[in-house]
Amino acid sequence: MFKHSSFRVRLALWFGGLSLFTLLSVGIYAGWITANQMKINAGEAVHAQAVAAAELLGANLHEREIEIILLSQAPHFVRGDLTSPDILASLERRRTLRSEFAWLGVADATGTVVQASNNMLVGQSVAQRPWFIAGLKDVYSGDVHEALLLAKLLPNTHTDEPLRFIDFAAPIRTGDGKVIGVVAAHAHWNWVTSTVQSIINRRNNDSETQILIVSNSGNVLYPQTLAGVSELPTKLPLTKNYSIAMWDDGHRYLTSQVLVDADSTTNFGWRIVVRQPLENALAPVYAMYARFLVLALIAVILFSLLAWRLAQSVSKPIEQLAAAAHCIKHNTSAPRYPTDTSLSEVAQLSNAMQSMTESLLTRERELELLNQTLEQQVLQRTDALAVANKQLEHLATTDPLTGINNRRRFDEKLVDYVQMGKRTGRGFSILLLDADHFKKVNDNYGHPVGDAVLQQIARLITSQTRATDFVARYGGEEFVVILPNAPSAAEVMTVAEKIRSAIESASFPEIGKMTMSIGSSYWHPEEINATDVIQRADEALYNAKASGRNRVVAYEQLK
Ligand code: GH3
Ligand code: MG
Ligand code: MG
Repeated sequence: MFKHSSFRVRLALWFGGLSLFTLLSVGIYAGWITANQMKINAGEAVHAQAVAAAELLGANLHEREIEIILLSQAPHFVRGDLTSPDILASLERRRTLRSEFAWLGVADATGTVVQASNNMLVGQSVAQRPWFIAGLKDVYSGDVHEALLLAKLLPNTHTDEPLRFIDFAAPIRTGDGKVIGVVAAHAHWNWVTSTVQSIINRRNNDSETQILIVSNSGNVLYPQTLAGVSELPTKLPLTKNYSIAMWDDGHRYLTSQVLVDADSTTNFGWRIVVRQPLENALAPVYAMYARFLVLALIAVILFSLLAWRLAQSVSKPIEQLAAAAHCIKHNTSAPRYPTDTSLSEVAQLSNAMQSMTESLLTRERELELLNQTLEQQVLQRTDALAVANKQLEHLATTDPLTGINNRRRFDEKLVDYVQMGKRTGRGFSILLLDADHFKKVNDNYGHPVGDAVLQQIARLITSQTRATDFVARYGGEEFVVILPNAPSAAEVMTVAEKIRSAIESASFPEIGKMTMSIGSSYWHPEEINATDVIQRADEALYNAKASGRNRVVAYEQLK
């Protein structure tokens, strides 16, 4: 994936990834430490509430017990007359002042209610009630129970919950210690529950933290919704301030359990359990996690952007350099080098590339100039060579003495004429000319004079032929003429005669007169090779010599 990815993308991803990794590890570690500390703090807080509720409840229960003890020992009670209006007044007063008391009453030693607040249960027997049986002997604080007798008489304000009370009772003893009856009070159960609930309500704003009152046997007495639901509280250790326990509902709770010490003659054995869902306790950590995650994301984006910008400051000039190199390679436009880079390495690279390009361009220009010079030289040399070739060609095909074509040129020309003749079907004639007694010229006047004679002969022959005729020096004092375009025998004879007569009539310096013998022959297109025609012309020339010189003989006339 990263094979061809840009430096920018890579750096941004690295920075982003590293910062995410760092922030997340720090966050998770910090969160873990915080969560642990919060568990401890919340656990201790839960325990503190349980202790406070237990103490408050214990104190309250104890206070009600003392109330009953004081009442049983009041003078109008111990005097022995349980029907005394003072007793009733005292009962009524307490019931009015202490709203938690639903009922206060006095039963005689047989268990018959003698007097009671609002006259409730008066005359009825409570002999079988636990509070009466226990109250005859000693001070008694009773466990919570549903109202058996009072339920019908008292208005039930908590419609969905049965009316429940806890009982306080104390024996009434006369001065000599004889038990004449029992004074008792039934306190509303909701007085107990509101006492403990007030602790929770005071300390917690949320409704997640719950307080439970659990009986000695492990039954949940309060709240009613959890009654008989959970078996856990009995298993909870009382030695630890708090523990994290899994409850029946499958949730984990920070749980603390404290015994209620009522400092009473009757041990209630109640326990206060406060529980708070662990999730709820750790909610601030989760909130912190969420906030930290947002912060981490922002930081990651910022770091990535920063890395992107940083990488851009490196990659942009490199890209510009690449573009410049592209320009140089394709010669499209003048290369533009990065100018505003603050990175010394990139600036160095840019400078190096610029100077390299400049030296390359200079070298290229030099090479171009050199090339042009070389081309010019080549052209000049080619021209010179052409001239030299022409000169060479001229030299190779020209006779140096007379300036007319030489034997070599004649040989070539003869081949050309033969080929052309075969193509066109038209023949040609050749004249072989030989100076008469030339040896004597050399002998009598010297070689240079002989040369001059030969030059004059050449001029004379040329002047007597047409431009289309071909004249060459055949060798020594012999010349040859080719007459093209199938000349007739008469035409050939006319030309030959013209030449012969022009030489005969010409005046040669030093020597005076000169003659030439001429032999001719016709080449016919049917002939295969060209040498035969020369042979024949030579034969005719020989014939002309033999028959007296200074004449023209046509080979064809010989037969
Ligand atoms: P004929 O009439 O039988 O032809 O007699 P001739 O004297 O011309 O006989 P021949 O052809 O044997 O002699 C030719 C002479 O031409 C011989 C040679 O010295 C002379 N000669 C050949 N080439 C040159 C030349 O280039 N310059 C000069 N000066 N003389 C030449
Ligand atoms: Mg000769
Ligand atoms: Mg001769």
